[in-house]
Amino acid sequence: MAEKVLLVKFGEVAMRGDNQYIFINRLILAIRRNLEAVGNYYVVREPGRLIVEDRGGEMDYDTVIPRVEPIFGLVGLCPGLKLEEMSMETLKKDALAHMQEMYGDTPMTFKVNARRSNKGFEARSQEICADLGEYILDNMSNMTVNVKTPDVVLYVEVRNRIYLYSKVIKTYGGLPYGSSGKGVSLLSGGIDSPVATWMMAKRGVEVEGVYFHSPPYTSEWAKQKVIDLGKRIADFTGSFKLYVVPFTDLQLYLLENVPHDKLTIHLKRAMMRAAEQIAVKDGAWSLITGESVGQVASQTMQGIYAINAVCNMPVLRPLAGMDKQEIINIGTKIGTYDISIRPYEDCCTIFVAKHPQIKPRLHVIERIEKKLTDLDKYIDEAVEKAEIIEL
Ligand code: ATP
Ligand code: MG
Repeated sequence: MAEKVLLVKFGEVAMRGDNQYIFINRLILAIRRNLEAVGNYYVVREPGRLIVEDRGGEMDYDTVIPRVEPIFGLVGLCPGLKLEEMSMETLKKDALAHMQEMYGDTPMTFKVNARRSNKGFEARSQEICADLGEYILDNMSNMTVNVKTPDVVLYVEVRNRIYLYSKVIKTYGGLPYGSSGKGVSLLSGGIDSPVATWMMAKRGVEVEGVYFHSPPYTSEWAKQKVIDLGKRIADFTGSFKLYVVPFTDLQLYLLENVPHDKLTIHLKRAMMRAAEQIAVKDGAWSLITGESVGQVASQTMQGIYAINAVCNMPVLRPLAGMDKQEIINIGTKIGTYDISIRPYEDCCTIFVAKHPQIKPRLHVIERIEKKLTDLDKYIDEAVEKAEIIEL
């Protein structure tokens, strides 16, 4: 009897030369971790593929696929069969059974795509394609061959064992989580920053979140939203460390001591400095924000320039060139959008300028900040008092 398995395809990691095995190990660990709680699964390494086997009985794809799908670095999942014997007879029989089970008697077109890396096998790729095609045609009257644009491609991979599948579920791609160093993400409860966080995590960056909380001016609901966003990101990354940094005192200090139209710029600069302190402490190499050029007053080029100037670390802005709708589309796909748009009451708008300065000048901002003798103290205190939540 052929065994139900999940063939896992990975992407860019395949091109990483000597580092390949480190990357692949990360993928194996992530798959194991995500499946640990639901059964007895085993991951077999084949050149260019990982094969997930169920050691506890017949594989239930509805359990396995949703848990493997979010893992970054994977490009496709193929529910398929691992054949018991290395023979053309077995292959024909199992391929037919697979096609019948998957497609019943619905009329469709198909072709066979065979790859034989095991040169010891009795038939060559060409012969496998021809023989299987003919056998299926003979036994399934609903099937016809179409080599150019078939409805279904039956893939056969002859390795140490024979595998076959006809469905490829596309996954997110990217690089294995944690393979690209660490970044601290400024995570608000908005639409943009969770998407930015996710995008860098997808690129293999180990992400931590920093949320600046200003009770009672920002509500507990807002904080809960950020926690829920962090949890959603953890569905992809396995875990997520969130700093909730109390910013009320600092914000009130700024409110009193800087021109109102420049408040946002000063506040963002303070956020960057606090986030950078946390990043240094935690061994991160970058900051991440959800800024998108031109989206709001503080995200003009001059605004970004004035905010950026305060930190030494590279600030990654994966949304810089994206339209709002593109960001919303990603947020919807990854399940952060619905959390982001959850309504909550922000009790107060005293920190929001009616007419924020759109083109702040760095030297002016810096001149104002020079006089803010307590600013460093407020930033240090905020970081010190941060609440750390492991999600
Ligand atoms: P978002 O949708 O992510 O809230 P936004 O469009 O509202 O972004 P801004 O309010 O200008 O834009 O914020 C720009 C970026 O600054 C955010 O994407 C986020 O990275 C960071 N940020 C803003 N407010 C906070 C906060 N309270 N805590 C942590 N980061 C914040
Ligand atoms: Mg916002």
